[in-house]
Amino acid sequence: VSRYWCELAWLGGEGPEPGVLLELDGERIASVRAGPPDGAERLTGLTLPGLANAHSHAFQRALRGRTERGGRGSFWTWREQMYALAESLDDVYALTKATFAEMALAGITLVGEFDYLHDSEAVMQAAADVGIRLTLLDACYLHGGLPRFRDAGVEAWAERVSELQPGPGVRLGAAIHSVRAVDPDSARVVAEFAADRGWPLHAHVSEQPAENEWCLAEYGATPLQLLQPAISERFTAVHATHTTEPLPQGFTCLCPTTERDLADGIGVPDAKFTLGSDSQSVIDLFEEARAVELDERLRTGVRGTYTAPQLAAAATSSGYASLGWPEGGRIEPGALADLVTVRLDGPRLAGTRPEDALDAVIFAATRDDVSTVIVSGRELDRDPARVAAELQQAIPR
Ligand SMILES: [Zn+2]
Repeated sequence: VSRYWCELAWLGGEGPEPGVLLELDGERIASVRAGPPDGAERLTGLTLPGLANAHSHAFQRALRGRTERGGRGSFWTWREQMYALAESLDDVYALTKATFAEMALAGITLVGEFDYLHDSEAVMQAAADVGIRLTLLDACYLHGGLPRFRDAGVEAWAERVSELQPGPGVRLGAAIHSVRAVDPDSARVVAEFAADRGWPLHAHVSEQPAENEWCLAEYGATPLQLLQPAISERFTAVHATHTTEPLPQGFTCLCPTTERDLADGIGVPDAKFTLGSDSQSVIDLFEEARAVELDERLRTGVRGTYTAPQLAAAATSSGYASLGWPEGGRIEPGALADLVTVRLDGPRLAGTRPEDALDAVIFAATRDDVSTVIVSGRELDRDPARVAAELQQAIPR
């Protein structure tokens, strides 16, 4: 049993609680109570549940800074550059590991890797070596894209995915790349495969208006209507920026820093929403969280549609649940012992009143304010210089 004393902790309520003593037993939180430090290890600042990055394509980290020149463009011109990278990338392990290490620096304790390069062993090994949890969402991709993305058919996808052997800290999920890449009959097979195993199922949905137009012309239905048989409590609609009807159940995953980078538009989250770094234009879930509210302010001229506790839940408990870890992303007895502490004594947040700490962190912190990251009861060894060196090595010139 190890004991931590949090100067401030967010336990899921409207604001932080002062002086919270946590007892950890192995990978779980055994008890949560108010009290003095009493010899426990101190976590100074605000402690939150570990952050869940619910939508990632790790390899796209190599595109940072490389897609901004070349004149006026769109998602579609960006996609050409992404395809060129995917086609030439050899060492998926090194790039994924370095990117996951950057995520660990940012307080991310669980990542959902939406994988269409299908180097699954490399992705699972990368998460294990960095020490963060992973949900590997192996994406069915049958039409379009690059040969590397595609399985010969949905049966070939199912056979490949059936053989995956997740180690500790890894769970599996399924993904339908998009309605463009997976026809409705195949999508149904993927959904049944996931349902039989109780796996989460994720799909890119209505990222672009052109996707809606194509889908209506091809099938006489919107992407969400077409995916109706796949939608359950375990379903996540990624982006859902241009959906024209509400998601009946499951989660919406917003990726605002990617959506703004790609000129995709502003998503409207449904009640349960999660956050993802997607194309890795930045890796900072505080930035993703506040962007949901700040983009809404620009669109509507109204402040306060989403509160800090709602945005914090998107980054923690909702993200964990959408990735198939419902026992994580919360600080309560029995929950997974995944924690992140944000310092309040650095130049960015010094002077924050304790009662404002959650608002200050959600609306002003960056990942550089993260001081401690604990996964499964163990503190990660985080070294920015080492991560920078790994990225330098792993990113193709
Ligand atoms: Zn994506």
